[in-house]
Amino acid sequence: MRKYVIMGIQGSGKGTQGGLLARDFDLTPIAVGDIFRWHVQNHTKIGAHVRRVMAAGELVGDDLVESVVRQRLDQHDWNYGFIVDGFPRNHRQAEFFLESYDIDGVIHLDLPDEEVRRRVLARRLCSRCGMDYNLIAHRPDVEDCCDVCGGALVSREDDTEQALSARLHDYHTKTNPVLELFRRKEFVVSVDARPDPASVQETIRARLRLSSEEPGLIPRG
Ligand code: AMP
Repeated sequence: MRKYVIMGIQGSGKGTQGGLLARDFDLTPIAVGDIFRWHVQNHTKIGAHVRRVMAAGELVGDDLVESVVRQRLDQHDWNYGFIVDGFPRNHRQAEFFLESYDIDGVIHLDLPDEEVRRRVLARRLCSRCGMDYNLIAHRPDVEDCCDVCGGALVSREDDTEQALSARLHDYHTKTNPVLELFRRKEFVVSVDARPDPASVQETIRARLRLSSEEPGLIPRG
């Protein structure tokens, strides 16, 4: 059983890297942002509550986030472990998480702000099937059109210059202290997120001493 958290600024490749680990090591991927987006798309009460906050690039209140995370993990559909993306994002959430669950490791994807801007403002999403694109690394064959279903490509509502600035500010002021807290517990492996996705994945696996045959161990100390 492996329990990981993947952290990094928006656009650092958390979804991609976490997805590859989840696929090959049977980990259940849990993305808090995706859970909230599901609520918004399905017009739930939670969706109505978080929509404006998300569109502004601000953080949802801790009580709500913690209850969503608890409910998700209480489903216990993670026999081989989980990889959580987008949580914890501040000191309080980190303390809640450490009190409630044993974590085997925190993967920190490190990316300079300028590269974040370049990547995030190039992100596109199919409005019909949800497939992800990036105008730098993964362009559609036909401009603004999904390769899979032909749907129109749109930007995420919170991928604007203004919302991105708010998220960068939040990240530096609130999320960096979380990394410090985890570092004190020697949980963190920091990985340069600038190389191509396959190289980043290789580095993560080497640092976590993960291979398909071997159980994952975090080097401590
Ligand atoms: P993400 O997809 O991780 O960028 O999350 C999208 C949005 O969901 C964020 O901008 C926040 O509004 C909200 N959100 C996701 N995770 C958290 C969290 N741990 N704490 C507070 N808000 C969150």
